[in-house]
Amino acid sequence: MLLIISLSSCANEYIKSQSPNLSIPKSHVKMDLIKLSEHVYYVQGSSGVATENEGFISNTAAIITEEGIIVFDALGTPSLASLFIQKIREVSQQPIVKVIVSHYHADHIYGLSVFKELGAEIIAPLGYSDYLDLPIANQRLEERRISLAPWVNETTKILRPDTVIETKTSFALGGIDFEINYLGRAHSDGDLTLLVKQDKVLLSGDLIFEGRIPFTGSANTKHWLELLEQIDNSTLHALLPGHGKVAENPSLAIKETLNYLKTVRSKMQFAVDEMMSFDEAYDSVDWSEFEDIPAFKSAHRINVFGIYLSLEEESMK
Ligand SMILES: [Zn+2]
Repeated sequence: MLLIISLSSCANEYIKSQSPNLSIPKSHVKMDLIKLSEHVYYVQGSSGVATENEGFISNTAAIITEEGIIVFDALGTPSLASLFIQKIREVSQQPIVKVIVSHYHADHIYGLSVFKELGAEIIAPLGYSDYLDLPIANQRLEERRISLAPWVNETTKILRPDTVIETKTSFALGGIDFEINYLGRAHSDGDLTLLVKQDKVLLSGDLIFEGRIPFTGSANTKHWLELLEQIDNSTLHALLPGHGKVAENPSLAIKETLNYLKTVRSKMQFAVDEMMSFDEAYDSVDWSEFEDIPAFKSAHRINVFGIYLSLEEESMK
């Protein structure tokens, strides 16, 4: 009896929150919900830069169980998050109970408020506040209110998590076992991945980039590389990266991100050891093996510069 009451109150909650929110403009992007495994569905953003395709450049997944839905990452605008929910409703009416955020970067978190309105618990890795409490978080939001108008606007808010993850954490819902792996500082100030055990699907967030140049921004590439070398992909059915297409050959996807980071680090390590200036170092390397990968022009040189600076810092320690 109690169960029936709680389920019907969830349903009411859902209907209430579906009333049109006028501050969220309707998205017109093409977004197809794809079934990856028995319980995991996802949508795939385009491979362009952050302000293209109405900001739909990152991936998001929903794991649908008989007792509720877990969402992994929240997309780059509230409009995209609303559209994603519409897509989910075509396959399930279960309540969305948790949104697990792989890391706090704009393209994965600006849709959070939409899930929160539905009553979902927001879960994020320790380190989120290193992003959120620095001026960069607000500067980025201000910049996106211009570059992603009207999708990011005055009402767009960055929400804090309800629960912070700082160690490996397991939970079950509707007979499905989930494992959240806390990774520390790698791609960002705090990263996590989610393993959906019965489906053998790993949601890797931005630890893996598939089909585009990774974004290394403020990354700790040393730790990132170490983590990639440790991932046990032998039993995985599929790996969904934070950007790019699903990797049905997880070991290949891991290898590609690993190769990129390894190559840039070793070339820049040489330059730092030889005390070359950045321009000299960059120009001395033949980057042609990466040139045809999407986002090379927008991301590569900046990545190399950031890694050059971090190696200089590492060498001074
Ligand atoms: Zn990121």
